[in-house]
Amino acid sequence: MLLKKICRLLPSVSLSFPRLRVLRRSSMASESDATRFDFLVIGGGSGGLAGARRAAELGANAAVIESHKLGGTCVNVGCVPKKVMWNAAVHAEYLHDHCDYGFETGSVRFSWEALKAKRDAYIAHLNRIYRNNLDKAKVTFIQGYARFTDDAEPTVEVNGKKYTAPHILISTGGQPSVLSDEEVPGASLGINSDGFFELETLPKRSVIVGAGYIAVEMAGILSTLGSKTSLIIRQTGVLRNFDALISANCTKEIQNNGIDLWKNSQVKSVCKTEKGLEVTIVTKDPDKTNDEKISVIEEVDCLLWAIGRQPNTAGLNIGAMGVDTDDRGHIIVDDFQNTTRSGIYAVGDVCGKALLTPVAIAAGRKLAHRLFEGKKDSKLDYSCIPTVVFSHPPIGTVGLTEEEAVKTKGKENVKIYKTSFTPMYHAITRRKSQCIMKLVCVGKEEKVVGLHMQGLGCDEMLQGFAVAIKMGATKEDFDKTVAIHPTSSEEFVTMR
Ligand SMILES: Cc1cc2nc3c(=O)[nH]c(=O)nc-3n(C[C@H](O)[C@H](O)[C@H](O)COP(=O)(O)OP(=O)(O)OC[C@H]3O[C@@H](n4cnc5c(N)ncnc54)[C@H](O)[C@@H]3O)c2cc1C
Repeated sequence: MLLKKICRLLPSVSLSFPRLRVLRRSSMASESDATRFDFLVIGGGSGGLAGARRAAELGANAAVIESHKLGGTCVNVGCVPKKVMWNAAVHAEYLHDHCDYGFETGSVRFSWEALKAKRDAYIAHLNRIYRNNLDKAKVTFIQGYARFTDDAEPTVEVNGKKYTAPHILISTGGQPSVLSDEEVPGASLGINSDGFFELETLPKRSVIVGAGYIAVEMAGILSTLGSKTSLIIRQTGVLRNFDALISANCTKEIQNNGIDLWKNSQVKSVCKTEKGLEVTIVTKDPDKTNDEKISVIEEVDCLLWAIGRQPNTAGLNIGAMGVDTDDRGHIIVDDFQNTTRSGIYAVGDVCGKALLTPVAIAAGRKLAHRLFEGKKDSKLDYSCIPTVVFSHPPIGTVGLTEEEAVKTKGKENVKIYKTSFTPMYHAITRRKSQCIMKLVCVGKEEKVVGLHMQGLGCDEMLQGFAVAIKMGATKEDFDKTVAIHPTSSEEFVTMR
């Protein structure tokens, strides 16, 4: 108990062990019956695998504990299968344009079943690659669910066996938030984003609940592939934490694409009938407090809740370790990914900040360099993280929104450049979609602190601009760059 307290009181300093010392430590006789490693990683997803492999490269004796499939959310139920589905949806969109580009296509049939089989095979292949990579890197793989024991020295138990290390990384990610049947009667008749990837057939009638990027992406995929889709949002727009221009434009595009958008609405109850689910929705007029309208969507064969994610911390027993969490269960870490308990670190979604695969990977690697290469200052810079939403058309965004810039730098110091146009691709198509772009600049030198866009190709356009912005590019630097013609991206270097 006393030892536990002393460990908690130790300052969360950057600990680094030169390689020789690490190797000696791992060969020391164990004080308990636990198997000892230099680095013990709980969670074999993006952050955990990256951290463990980098630590092993740097000479540490590392182990990864994974309860489900290697690769975590991204590989199994996130970025990867999602992008496969989005790619399929983009094909479906382009089919509408074939005739405008001179192609005569007969009737085209789409097989969800064939696509799912190929997607699942690809993911199984990735799972095997991840396993091989661990073996090649000489990282021990432990299959099972890890839970901290009450031992004085931080120790975890998996399938009745104990493991310990001077450095333990928690990278357990998160899972979709769910509503109970008490909160919304019949809520459990719906699925979540994990369930989306288990759908064996294309639903005929889908209802998606949520306004975040996962809701937007999944509604877009289902609708584009031919499911009649409704999106239920509590307020008037989707992606409310994005720049207001993006939020407004994406909300408009969703409607343009034929998704039936229910604003100011919430699901009241769900029940099962012979013909499918009946979803009862309550819509409130925000200007009239007591004005409620009740509607029912019938014959729904896919109700998908995309109402946020929660961290996987509940079963870890981290409270007993002195690892503090916030009120939503996210692990509190400092800039160096130290938790409140010395020798225990956390990276990725479990920390609740910038929930993206490359963020988890970068944080895991930076930590490995700090712990096992003596790079005391090695930490991830969380500013200017670029992100893409695979909507239709896609969104790219990096840096401050206009609102954030005004709040932090003062309205008088912020200059906005905006444009909107029809991409040349659509010049000869009947199907139209706009491209919108915004640059957020601050100060006399007009440093570009934010870049936001939605339009054809914006997903692939962002990375290069993100480099420029990370380097501190000004509007003048953008202007000095010769345009690439004819592209949409050239608009960013010709804005006035
Ligand atoms: C539908 C969807 C789409 C997404 N699309 C994108 C995208 O396009 N681009 C992007 O950058 N990000 C995307 N993300 C987010 C991305 O998947 C996550 O940010 C990323 O996977 C986080 O990595 P992580 O290592 O923190 O956690 P995870 O990858 O979730 O890994 C955590 C692992 O820990 C395991 N685990 C949990 N508890 C225990 C335990 N007690 N013992 C042992 N193992 C345990 C879990 O089984 C899991 O495998 C998407 C997410 C979702 C849900």
